[in-house]
Amino acid sequence: MSATVQQCTACSSVMFPFRLFCPYCGHWEFADHQVDDAVVEETTTLADGAVIATVVCGAGARLIARIVGGEVSQGDKVALSNEPDREPGVFAYIPFTPESRY
Ligand SMILES: [Zn+2]
Repeated sequence: MSATVQQCTACSSVMFPFRLFCPYCGHWEFADHQVDDAVVEETTTLADGAVIATVVCGAGARLIARIVGGEVSQGDKVALSNEPDREPGVFAYIPFTPESRY
């Protein structure tokens, strides 16, 4: 399982949420990029109990994801998924659909 994020075709920067312009080089063309896992940098527990995490993927991008299926701590490696109902285990959910690109 992996998650789809956006990669700039000019400078190869990886980002999520999707952008209209690359914040690093100003380019406007992107390709989908698959990321399998990431390291938890910081977590925040919302009032409803949901846990949101900033995770850093291997390409160096910081992504915002929802932690599903259990608890994580800073420094933990978590799998990434675009499917909120993936089972089993703990993973970081990134809400990507092809329609959500722009
Ligand atoms: Zn770029």
